Amino acid sequence: MEPPHLHVFFFPFMSPGHLIPMVDMARLFATHGVKSTIITTPLNLSRFRSIIGRHNCSSNYVPIDLHVLDLPFSAAGLPENCENLDSLPSRLMSYNFSKAIMMHQPPSSDLVRRHRPDAIISDLNLPWTAEIAREHGIPRIVFNGGCCFSLSVVDGVARHKPHENVSSDTEPFLVPGLPDPVFITKSHMPERFFGNLGLHEFFKSFMEAERNTYGVVANTTYEIEPEYVEHYKKITGKKVWPVGPVSLCNKKALDMAERGNKASIDKERCLTWLDSKKPNSVLYVSFGSLCTFSKSQLLELGLGLEASNHSFIWVIRDHQELGFVLKDFEERVRDRGLIIRGWAPQVLILNHEAVGGFMTHCGWNSVLESVSEGVPLITWPLFAEQFYNENFVLHRLRIGVGIGVQSGLAWGEEERSDVLMEKDQIAEAVTRLMSDGEMVEVMRKRASRLRDIARSAVEKGGSSYVSVGLLIEDLLNQREERLARDHR
Ligand code: UDP
Repeated sequence: MEPPHLHVFFFPFMSPGHLIPMVDMARLFATHGVKSTIITTPLNLSRFRSIIGRHNCSSNYVPIDLHVLDLPFSAAGLPENCENLDSLPSRLMSYNFSKAIMMHQPPSSDLVRRHRPDAIISDLNLPWTAEIAREHGIPRIVFNGGCCFSLSVVDGVARHKPHENVSSDTEPFLVPGLPDPVFITKSHMPERFFGNLGLHEFFKSFMEAERNTYGVVANTTYEIEPEYVEHYKKITGKKVWPVGPVSLCNKKALDMAERGNKASIDKERCLTWLDSKKPNSVLYVSFGSLCTFSKSQLLELGLGLEASNHSFIWVIRDHQELGFVLKDFEERVRDRGLIIRGWAPQVLILNHEAVGGFMTHCGWNSVLESVSEGVPLITWPLFAEQFYNENFVLHRLRIGVGIGVQSGLAWGEEERSDVLMEKDQIAEAVTRLMSDGEMVEVMRKRASRLRDIARSAVEKGGSSYVSVGLLIEDLLNQREERLARDHR
């Protein structure tokens, strides 16, 4: 008799930038014959029910189970919707969110006891899954969402504390112990972002949980950062499986207009608009799922895009804010500007040949999705590890133009701070990337080469494809050993 499929529980963190790649990963594992079960909460269910449900009837069917944990938020004195990072008012962030996260542990443990999965793949930010894995004697694999370069810089800073020897926030210093010289400034360190959240104990607990973990699965491609994947293995002493870009794994099977959320623009309208533009002529402008600019910064950005004279798609998260002013702006740029208010079908847009640049906050998913489509970037990092990702794009991959931001923000500060970048600086960066010229030509060639590398990696026999197979084999071996032990 055939042994039963390997059964893996996936625990995503409640923020789109973590949840989306985890769902991609669950589906990727399912296509390799794994029984994948995603554990989620009611608010998040709607984000991907369509993706999973709809294909149950088509040839793209892969079985993915969902378990919804209905958490007693209000009973615990917590506001509705506090289960998600992007729907949470920043002032409630510190206390309620970590409390909400911890509330998942008992019902999750109960679920594991009842369904007896063979392994857990958990987001790094859910430290309690380490306890559950230990309790039930199964391996826990961590998914930490970033690239090995950024993770290595974070580790290098924590280990050697080079920032303690510099007095100014803007003085560059070397991060010791890395495969090549990396310079950063204090103003780029993620600590600034997390500093006022009062979450130090919580963060300490997930670093501790990572130490008690069997291995790490990474949404990256070995060939785009081989020395950093090796370095990361060395510093963590763990097995590391680079399986990305996961956004490419499901591209053929799924409707990319529904990835992470239902798109706020009709897919056909978006594609028809792009079809009317020349190859590489459109700049895609988006700052991910969490960041909110002040009203004056948004206006300045709009004016910069207008002044650049290039075509663009601009995604604005909170469309209420600009209202009337935006209407006037839209009129003026009617022929060359498309504004999406809400959620954009990002991968679908980046995939279109008319898109020749991406102005981004350097969230790792956005960077990798751009790399996967061979699109060079304008980097405008804001907080967390985004400055390290910018460093990777500008100085390692060399496929970007920096907008010139000097300093990271603390949580919630982006909404308060007035103008971080002025119209002329924005227009100048757009012109540098979107105009023809030798520098841009070379960058585009490099970006195309990286796209080919990323795409080959996820094809059968490619490094990421092989990595998924090795991880599954490892987990199957562990199951056998466990069963043999239980039998004795
Ligand atoms: N995303 C999207 N449409 C949007 C905004 C974001 O599809 O309008 C997706 C994007 O493709 C990426 C994720 O949301 O997969 C954002 O993750 P990232 O790491 O780039 O940034 P974060 O939102 O975590 O800051």
